[in-house]
Amino acid sequence: MANFSASTFEAVTCPACGLLCDDVRISCDSTGLLTVSEKGCAKSVIFFERAVQTSSPSIAGKSVSLTEAVNKAAEILRTSNQPLFAGLGTEVQGMRGVLSLADKVGATLDHMNAYSSFRNTLVLQNSGWQVTTLTEVRNRVDLLLVIGTDIVSHNPRFFERNVWNKESMFDQDTSSREVVYLGGQNIDTSAGISPKGVKPTVLPCDTERLPEVVAALRAIIASKTLVAKEIAGIKTSDLESLSDRLKAAKYSVVTWVSSDLNLPHAELTIQNITELVIKLNAKTRSSGLPLGGSEGDYSVNQTSTWTSGYPVRSRFARKHPEYDPHHFSAEQLLANDEADALLWVSEFNPDKTPPNVNIPKIVIGHTNMHAIDADVFIPVSTAGIDHTGTMFRIDSSVSLPLGKLRESSLPSLIEVITAIEAAL
Ligand code: SF4
Repeated sequence: MANFSASTFEAVTCPACGLLCDDVRISCDSTGLLTVSEKGCAKSVIFFERAVQTSSPSIAGKSVSLTEAVNKAAEILRTSNQPLFAGLGTEVQGMRGVLSLADKVGATLDHMNAYSSFRNTLVLQNSGWQVTTLTEVRNRVDLLLVIGTDIVSHNPRFFERNVWNKESMFDQDTSSREVVYLGGQNIDTSAGISPKGVKPTVLPCDTERLPEVVAALRAIIASKTLVAKEIAGIKTSDLESLSDRLKAAKYSVVTWVSSDLNLPHAELTIQNITELVIKLNAKTRSSGLPLGGSEGDYSVNQTSTWTSGYPVRSRFARKHPEYDPHHFSAEQLLANDEADALLWVSEFNPDKTPPNVNIPKIVIGHTNMHAIDADVFIPVSTAGIDHTGTMFRIDSSVSLPLGKLRESSLPSLIEVITAIEAAL
């Protein structure tokens, strides 16, 4: 890093979770250290205030020039028959480069979060869904049903910006909004307490029993009569009361975080959520809202889908894109020896390191990852801090520009990928 000039940046977009809050205030001192001075959260502080260590490209742990590292990476990919590109912690421009290189070398692509995001994708592909945007939530929600999560551990400012916001476009008294937590145990529900001090309704159950509870709620909303008096410790009468309130609401929103639904066939529970939303829409307005998002997962899937027609867990080995959310899982491919070179990308997070594998490993990542064991390591700058970029928000309908807050001597991911492609 070099040539920092002390400055303060207003309305910075934070890429540390899927909310992409665009109101963060960041100060940069003359040494290049960033401080979140306003509108941040613990997650954004970790992201922006991380002390950056200096590192250089390396081959088998030995420092080399960028050109040598790029040439070695190109050699590994040129001689590979089944390259796997995984991790993929990046934004739109980085992913464009990754897709271009994948097409050239016939790689398979998988994002580090695909294990959970594909629970949502399967529902979308199987039956479609009615989901809404954060803007709609901010302006219209009157009953928020949170399923199996606390939200704030994933999206810390969700309630502040979208539920307890002081103003809405339609003069709604936002402090009167109702919040209900359904499922999960020992969830911190304090964010659901309204500004008037009204506590949320909490109907806890073990996460493993959530499929039964959600199926029961869907049945009740569909006017089925349940014989059981309780489901997973939740009184049927409480679910009936919830159903009545959802039907009476003018704009309910049902939200979940797929990574917290760590259940066998979680997609079926998500489908029950989205189907109960469809049922509610027969008489009133209701929408689903998948939350979470990290390491650029939504941006990577969007870019992949508009470029190739498929989200990740796709393959370019046959000169046309193929998609298989089960077979093209990086974990599966590595376990079955179906990959002979790994290219791992993580530009946002030095803690997202590649799996231990016995195949040639190229790592293009955050400069603080330099201690990892890799055949080739190339440190890159970070979008949203060291260079500009573009990211998709969790609701996928809004893309936001990421700013450059300081100078960096490191190349960006797209520059490295383009150089590797040229050296093939
Ligand atoms: S809630 Fe998410 S996007 Fe907003 S500041 Fe915190 S980490 Fe960044």
